Amino acid sequence: MALEKYSTVLKMAQEGRYCVPAFNTYNYETIAWAIEVAEEEKRPVIVQLYPGYDFYIPLKVMCDAAKELAAHASVPVCVHLDHSATYEIAFAGLAAGFPSVMIDGSSLSFDENVALTAAVSRAAHALGCEVEAELGHVGSGSNLDDFATGGKFTDPDEAVKFIELTNVDALAVSIGNAHGAYAATPNLQLDLLSKINDAVDIPLVLHGGSDIPDEQIKQAITRGIAKVNIATEYFRAMYKGYSASIAAAPDKDSLFEISQMSKDSVKEFLRGKFNLLKADV
Ligand SMILES: [Zn+2]
Repeated sequence: MALEKYSTVLKMAQEGRYCVPAFNTYNYETIAWAIEVAEEEKRPVIVQLYPGYDFYIPLKVMCDAAKELAAHASVPVCVHLDHSATYEIAFAGLAAGFPSVMIDGSSLSFDENVALTAAVSRAAHALGCEVEAELGHVGSGSNLDDFATGGKFTDPDEAVKFIELTNVDALAVSIGNAHGAYAATPNLQLDLLSKINDAVDIPLVLHGGSDIPDEQIKQAITRGIAKVNIATEYFRAMYKGYSASIAAAPDKDSLFEISQMSKDSVKEFLRGKFNLLKADV
């Protein structure tokens, strides 16, 4: 099993009618615990890094650690660089060894997004690597205009053109989802998702997967979502786990022990996501 190609894992998910959780990670525990639960659940997993955390942990350190753990895993594991805002960031990720990267030109015009994404796609494919891109714009959950009013949703016809022009391996869609905590309960546009899925033939990705009602997530998987990104909820589960452990043992003076005490509750959170991310049959 071990380290597996991004496109292979997403194809496995589509064929198996489940969805691969992509957990955002930032340190050893967040990588190792996600892989540990994937092994227990016998499911593929994607561990990904937001490149903005490069100031805290160098891309290569993170990539090497994740790939080393992946190499010894009993299930397929992908190591992926999340939201690269520029060609240079995406290329730095490829140079650091990430087998797949996301290039996010969704704030640009359609033509500019195509140009940026196509350039990253050419470079990545030349290196045997793969690319996720975004069309429509997945904004911030704190801003209702970003996810509730439709102005930034993905257009199915544009998606077809975009994929033809860029040759990307997967597409992140904007269908009422957003990053971070939501200011109001999200309402995924499932009919729009079905139209996009009918129009294109590559796997679709849902960013901002935290705090979307479970029933909507299930429907989204049934309608073609093969990868769901989970950052906010994972970081919250870490925070809650550590907080509870510190409250339960105020006299402990070792963060290592607190971390070990928190592991079960965080793994329980991760297990819940694997259980959720299956298509309704
Ligand atoms: Zn995102």
